[in-house]
Amino acid sequence: MQQQPDWLRYDRDHVWHPYATVHSDTPIWPIVEARGAEIRLADGRWLVDGMASWWSVIHGYRHPVLDAALKAQIDRFSHVMFGGLTHEPAVELARRLLTIAPGSLDHVFFADSGSVAVEVALKMAIQCWDGRGQPQRKRFLTIQSGYHGDTFGAMSVCDPENGMHRLFSGFLPEQLFAPAPPLASEADDGSALEAFETLLKQHRNEIAAVILEPIVQGAGGMRIYRPDYLKSVAALCRQHDVLLILDEIATGFGRTGTLFACEQAGVEPDILCLGKALTGGYMTLAATLVSDEVARDICRSEAGALMHGPTFMANPLACAVAGASIDLLLSRPWRDRVIAIERQLEQGLAPCRDLHTITDVRTIGAIGVIELKGNHLPPGIQETLVGAGVWVRPFRNLVYVMPPYVIEDAQLATLTEAICEVLSTRLQMQPSPNPPL
Ligand code: PMP
Repeated sequence: MQQQPDWLRYDRDHVWHPYATVHSDTPIWPIVEARGAEIRLADGRWLVDGMASWWSVIHGYRHPVLDAALKAQIDRFSHVMFGGLTHEPAVELARRLLTIAPGSLDHVFFADSGSVAVEVALKMAIQCWDGRGQPQRKRFLTIQSGYHGDTFGAMSVCDPENGMHRLFSGFLPEQLFAPAPPLASEADDGSALEAFETLLKQHRNEIAAVILEPIVQGAGGMRIYRPDYLKSVAALCRQHDVLLILDEIATGFGRTGTLFACEQAGVEPDILCLGKALTGGYMTLAATLVSDEVARDICRSEAGALMHGPTFMANPLACAVAGASIDLLLSRPWRDRVIAIERQLEQGLAPCRDLHTITDVRTIGAIGVIELKGNHLPPGIQETLVGAGVWVRPFRNLVYVMPPYVIEDAQLATLTEAICEVLSTRLQMQPSPNPPL
């Protein structure tokens, strides 16, 4: 084993990590290389990656096609402003997105991250109603246990309990929250939908849009719900003339077994948010897609234009690699691969069902989730998983995997066996405080 690198000490003292404190003793692992579905630690160990770098690296690390696309674009230009200028990588990416996106979406706004794509979607909805002569429509209706990002608008529509509402109350806009739909494995007495409909009817003249994650609620609880619920929500939005924003930032590009999760309910959004796997996880880029009808009304609003325009909008490198990533996905039997991963996850995680501290094991597409009783994980679970040769990042009472689609069967077996083994041995121990996401 090699020594820990020097820069790791500097990291601990000066570099902020996600949802982290400074001067913390929480372990952090230095990565020096990544290839396929594995990442290599500075001490030489390779870990099987169960996270696909927060669900984005669908084709694995250092894919030759994506590497080549990026290098080719570097030799042309890495960036130009998008105000008043345009370039082929952005236009060809927009063309691809509008071709594969569900429903009739006609315009693409490129944003720098998922959270910003959500901010843009919220702005679009508010400006659309302004253009329609109903400027009072400025609130959003959503469901509990959702997650849409960490910027303020996005945060305001995250779950109010496990989100950051208390911390930022007084500053965050106050939105409307319906109960989360039951899990697909639970009985559905229809009460969640009824409560949703009641809120929608009560507030329809204030609501600009409904926003939710279709089929899978990710960071808000890794919950899988029935397509029927989404179908009914979409129908209610149409009936009561409220826009529907679908956040497919986590579910887009095949993760749930369909190219977009909303296809499972046969619904079409007015506004669609994409991110994460858009670039195959190579670079930060997101997109907000909108129908022509909504886009026209946005442009009739008092401002006369959509009021957003980030410095790195439609970054050519990110657009070039995103275009290559989509072509690569569509050129492969990605659906068969995702369904094969689902089957293997189902089988591989099944032994965890027998552990008495586990309340649920659920899978959909290339997503596997283990939910523990209570609100705590065993102490040191992250270190133990790394010791077992896998990179999995549990949070709250959830251990989950969303591996790259290129993960080999043997690597996936390593992942599920390590998780089952670590949980069955560590669940005997005392609970630890909540680790961050
Ligand atoms: N929406 C969803 C559904 C997400 O899962 C995430 C990220 N986990 C976001 C929005 C925010 O994306 P980003 O982290 O790129 O800002």
